[in-house]
Amino acid sequence: MTYLVISDIHANLEALEATLQHAGSHDAILVLGDLVGYGADPNAVIERVRDLQATTIIRGNHDKVGAGVDSVDAFNHLARHAIGWTASVLTAPNREWLAALPAGPVNIDSQVQICHGSPFDEDAYIFDELDARRAFSAAERTLCLFGHTHVPAIYKFDSDLRFLGPPRGSQLRVEFDGNAQYLVNCGAVGQPRDGDARAAYGVLDTDARTLAMVRVPYDLPAAQAKIVAAGLPEVLAHRLGVGR
Ligand code: ZN
Repeated sequence: MTYLVISDIHANLEALEATLQHAGSHDAILVLGDLVGYGADPNAVIERVRDLQATTIIRGNHDKVGAGVDSVDAFNHLARHAIGWTASVLTAPNREWLAALPAGPVNIDSQVQICHGSPFDEDAYIFDELDARRAFSAAERTLCLFGHTHVPAIYKFDSDLRFLGPPRGSQLRVEFDGNAQYLVNCGAVGQPRDGDARAAYGVLDTDARTLAMVRVPYDLPAAQAKIVAAGLPEVLAHRLGVGR
């Protein structure tokens, strides 16, 4: 099986289209949440993702707040402004679809699990080794894919925990039949925060036991212009350009 792994699209249609085109076809697609928030195309992104074949989709914190199933209290000023705008433009069918997305974690097969934030809490962040230790203790599969931080990262746990870094263009070999466990964030499609403005995604091959971390440029000026034209804070357009 090959899986396309995408997360944190954040209403960035240009980044999503570039990712889907660059990635080509795979047996299945895993969407790790945050389809909306920050960007200017929430309806178009929802409709594009909804029409993809063979997908497993879980919700992110922005999806919950945008759909009105969670309060905005945990959001900072910028996120709050953007999600208020998002909620105001979502069509009723898209809001209902978003509200019905399942929470993670979800087990994909005997080897792979997906979550938005962490396997013990969909809203928790995995930013460091302490976060990773808590996540490993809750993970139910050899490989747990996560998102939420918008920063690519690989943690490996066998006899000890190792941070294998924010990889650039790398391919991880996953020991599905070994004793090791992995936590991997393939990065954000629509709002990268690792200083690289390109869209990020992953391709998992469970037969070859490889996970490739991929970056692809997209029509950034178009996405930025839409944010400004929508009346969203201009800093949201700026941050896309610097990948922060
Ligand atoms: Zn996000």
